Amino acid sequence: MTGKTAAVIGAGFGGLALAIRLQSAGIKTSVFEKRDKPGGRAYVYNDAGFTFDAGPTVITDPACLEALWALSGRKMADYVTLLPVAPFYQLCWEDGYRFDYADDQDEIDRQIRAKSPADVEGYRKFLDYSTDLFHEGYEKLGSVPFLNFWSMIKAAPQLVRLEAHRSVYSKVSQFIEDDQLRQAFSFHSLLVGGNPFETSSIYALIHALERRGGVWFAKGGTGALIQAMAKLLVDLGGTIELSASIDRIELEGQTARALVLADGRTLPFDMVASNADVVHTYKQLLRGTPRGASKGKSLESKRFSMSLFVIYFGLKRQHPELRHHMVLFGPRYKELIHEIFHTDGLADDFSLYLHAPSVTDDSLAPPGQSAYYVLSPVPHLGTADIDWDVEGPKYRDRILKYLSDRYIPGLLDDLVTVRHITPFDFRDELNAHLGSAFSVEPILTQSAWFRPHNRDDEISNLYIVGAGTHPGAGIPGVVGSAEATASLMIEDAAR
Ligand SMILES: Cc1cc2nc3c(=O)[nH]c(=O)nc-3n(C[C@H](O)[C@H](O)[C@H](O)COP(=O)(O)OP(=O)(O)OC[C@H]3O[C@@H](n4cnc5c(N)ncnc54)[C@H](O)[C@@H]3O)c2cc1C
Repeated sequence: MTGKTAAVIGAGFGGLALAIRLQSAGIKTSVFEKRDKPGGRAYVYNDAGFTFDAGPTVITDPACLEALWALSGRKMADYVTLLPVAPFYQLCWEDGYRFDYADDQDEIDRQIRAKSPADVEGYRKFLDYSTDLFHEGYEKLGSVPFLNFWSMIKAAPQLVRLEAHRSVYSKVSQFIEDDQLRQAFSFHSLLVGGNPFETSSIYALIHALERRGGVWFAKGGTGALIQAMAKLLVDLGGTIELSASIDRIELEGQTARALVLADGRTLPFDMVASNADVVHTYKQLLRGTPRGASKGKSLESKRFSMSLFVIYFGLKRQHPELRHHMVLFGPRYKELIHEIFHTDGLADDFSLYLHAPSVTDDSLAPPGQSAYYVLSPVPHLGTADIDWDVEGPKYRDRILKYLSDRYIPGLLDDLVTVRHITPFDFRDELNAHLGSAFSVEPILTQSAWFRPHNRDDEISNLYIVGAGTHPGAGIPGVVGSAEATASLMIEDAAR
């Protein structure tokens, strides 16, 4: 051990991955989580014998997770099993067209040829472009910190070459002509909170990430992966305290000295990392300090990703005809996304992501039954002033009826259990600024160096990890942020 101690505020994927890296490097690490379970957005609801993963379900780049075990010569497979998902997603439109987004070039070619023969060649070019982005944006830059403007300048020639100033949708449209196929290959940035019409084309790398590393599901649910990470941390000698809300970070001059918990305890540490929302970190946890006030204000002026409305439901029968991951496009694409990101109000139509994990893993529901969640992107609380306590139940009923009418006949009669979360829950349970589901919006002017830094510029032993810092949201993103932040902390601890 180095003799140094570190605290991590929050047990999301980023906080846990960081703690594992620090503990593996000999820094005695303690995680403090306000909720009663670890996971953050990857919380788990257990209702009436069903297991519902609250958030992430699409696991990509398993190698970034395996690396956490490899640090201490362990194997992830001894802690949790990842199951391949095929097809990766089924994409469905209201006119009945379906596209199975498979991990199989021939199968993809066959479907594209049937829909729009000219796009077979275009898709290959798009895949090459996405692979290029993956090398430059993910492999080279996805887990290194951007602390100074020079690091941004060094990356600039590649960003210019790859036309990172253009949007995901505009680049996809350069290669692909068919309207539905353009949707099929551009919606991915929404999975990390990015509007495909505005977010940098860098995020088109997600396509190559999936094609190269596959799409996986943790046996027992994403919660089982979180439990595995928590166990690894404890096996390494780290600690996690649950139901332990941090009230503030105590500074001495420009140095973080201790955490003050909501229960009144003050615990000293050599280094402090926050996995909590970035605005919450500066405005709340550093309240009353000049740095908290100045940085909190500048962060509030940033653009934040949309929020989500999610319904978790269990049915008394199974639906093997469904696919594990389904994207159900509504009647409008560009216009709906524009309204979600920019308009005060809730659209009449929606596009949905349906999670049907019982298709892959029957341990998530009682025998013969099946577990689901359905997610609708909605404006965050700064975009639309919606009283979700009033609108939530009505919105839930509209979505369930739509599903019952089009995709899961008999759903309303077969319901065993149902619950939903709204932007209010992101705000109140997760301390998320404006109830955003993915934190700072991933647009070019808020990426890399322009994103909140992995180490604070003024408080030299305060670090940030998770969706709000570089590189950004999504499991591979926040696990990459943990690598970037850990590299700084390990280097600083050795001084
Ligand atoms: C519904 C949904 C579906 C998603 N699907 C996918 C997917 O399929 N694949 C994918 O890769 N990504 C997905 N994402 C994105 C991904 O889940 C997130 O980007 C990622 O999990 C965020 O991790 P994080 O480390 O930033 O921490 P978070 O999960 O945000 O955790 C932060 C933690 O800090 C805690 N905290 C906050 N304040 C305090 C305090 N004062 N004291 C103590 N603790 C505090 C919170 O309780 C929380 O546990 C999804 C997100 C959502 C919401």
